[in-house]
Amino acid sequence: MKKVILPSLAWTAGLSLLIALILHLGGDFPDLRSYVQPRLGVGVLVFLIVSLGLFSVFDKAFLKKFFPWAAVLPILWMATFTWAYGFASLPEKKHLGDYYVLGGVAFGLPYVYLTITEEINQRLPKLRFLWELIAGLFAFFMTICPFIYIGYYILFGGEMDMFAMMAVRSTHMKEIHDFLATMGSPVRIIGAVFAFLFVLAVSFTFVHSMVKAARGMKSPLRGTSKGYLIGLGVLFVLFFGGFYRQIIHVFPITIVRTMDSKGSEFQLLQKLTDNLDKNVKKMTFVDPGAGITEGTHIVIIGESANRDHMKVFNPSYPENTTPWLSFVANTPDFALGYMAYSNFPNTLMSLSYAMTSANQYNDKSFADVVSMVDVAKAAGYRTDWISFHNRSSLSSAGVTMIAERSDGSYWEKNYDGYTLEVLKKLPPAKKRVIFINIDGSHYTYLARVPIDKRDELGIPSSDPYHDYDLTIAYDDEVIRDIFEYAKKNLNLQTMVYFSDHGENMEHYHTASPFYYDMVHIPFFVYLSPSYQAAHPGLMPALKSHEHQVFTNDLAFDTVTGIWDAKTNYYNPEYDFSSPKYSLNMDNARTMEGKHKISDDPFLKK
Ligand SMILES: [Zn+2]
Repeated sequence: MKKVILPSLAWTAGLSLLIALILHLGGDFPDLRSYVQPRLGVGVLVFLIVSLGLFSVFDKAFLKKFFPWAAVLPILWMATFTWAYGFASLPEKKHLGDYYVLGGVAFGLPYVYLTITEEINQRLPKLRFLWELIAGLFAFFMTICPFIYIGYYILFGGEMDMFAMMAVRSTHMKEIHDFLATMGSPVRIIGAVFAFLFVLAVSFTFVHSMVKAARGMKSPLRGTSKGYLIGLGVLFVLFFGGFYRQIIHVFPITIVRTMDSKGSEFQLLQKLTDNLDKNVKKMTFVDPGAGITEGTHIVIIGESANRDHMKVFNPSYPENTTPWLSFVANTPDFALGYMAYSNFPNTLMSLSYAMTSANQYNDKSFADVVSMVDVAKAAGYRTDWISFHNRSSLSSAGVTMIAERSDGSYWEKNYDGYTLEVLKKLPPAKKRVIFINIDGSHYTYLARVPIDKRDELGIPSSDPYHDYDLTIAYDDEVIRDIFEYAKKNLNLQTMVYFSDHGENMEHYHTASPFYYDMVHIPFFVYLSPSYQAAHPGLMPALKSHEHQVFTNDLAFDTVTGIWDAKTNYYNPEYDFSSPKYSLNMDNARTMEGKHKISDDPFLKK
């Protein structure tokens, strides 16, 4: 017993301490408390169980001899994800333990494999080749996954998630072409193919060298009694069960599983892509007599802006983050939504609802909707979409698809302030809608604000949320400049601003864990004096709703209502600018209807 328990404990403790030390160096695990995570605990437990299992069943010399083969995959996986979550600061740190569990289980892999190989050699020698082939392919899969993960991070600066995978799967040929173009030159693509073949060759050599080393070895078991055979049986069950359980909970299988789960975001958006053209054909205008007036309508879509950090919405906020908006908010041409919420705490879902006639309250699925862009085009406006998001940053798949339905789309890699330069270059049009999707306050915050602006925006370094507040103050200026420019040069008629979602200062924005400040968003509407004269009911209705709850999935009805471009996809009950607007604290929801807005703890303060 001593020969089993002591080495197992020593091995587990040593390995856990080593990993803890490495994680500490990464900076995200500063104190003992930060290690208290259930999945890390499971990781340690699995190390212990695997060691106990291996030490009690197998001969020590056998364990020692194949240690180099046993160590490769666990090191590859554990190192990759230690880097990802401990050093590259990816947000979903809670998954880290899953990769240690997988590493722990994978450590038993060669021992289990060779034990079965020996049986096959004796009983079914004809299957030897097939058995090695399976092992080679499996080793290839286990080796390539971490490299794909790292490669994706290097190319796109983030973790491959469901939304990225979704774009890959729903891609059309043109997008595959663009995707390869983003990846770079043919040299790089050929390089990738060679790297792929290289890993394949290495995987097979690896398995073959191991099988060769095991040739002619005596029984790997510690003893010959029945007890060891039973022990081996238990070990096999634990191993295969554990491995299966774990591999489906880590990258990349976990992503594919989420996508294919019924009603997943992937399936919803697939429906949107497939049906938009068909639905547009069924679109008719409800009140075509009104006609459209000349001029420009602007829709600004914010990013990660939390209204709690905007003085205009939250007067007790210590920093003056919104000098411009605070000033114009008191004029008769602006109406604000002080109780505006996002319908979902991530960009893709939130904007898929905001930009289309789907919302949480009607029973329309994404298969039966049209987009704001389609309505604008059918109403006779020229449409342009200016975006500071990465066009193929696959996580904006749904938005990109809607954006590219515009007459012109511009994908800028620059600060939000660059909007003005793009506006100057737009082809002339008498009647137009311009969508501007700013980079806003997406983390990392400081990177959103030009260096020469950082000291000018009046956000003191003593502000605990200095970097975030800087983005809010910067965009207050950017939106002011867009407004002033459009008023002067583009015959601005209306301007609507809302953010896709808010931001929690600790957890950013994510469906889990969910905090209500992730859906606290700014929202305002500007109507020019002449537009108000032509549509006298609009501003009084907007003003009367300023303190009524709004969720941004109703942006479609509200914006097309303000444009007076009402279609058979429009419903005045969802239009913030209509006297018939009916959202209130009893029915308002977020997260695809899962949470009530009235449960927001901030409302009780
Ligand atoms: Zn976003």
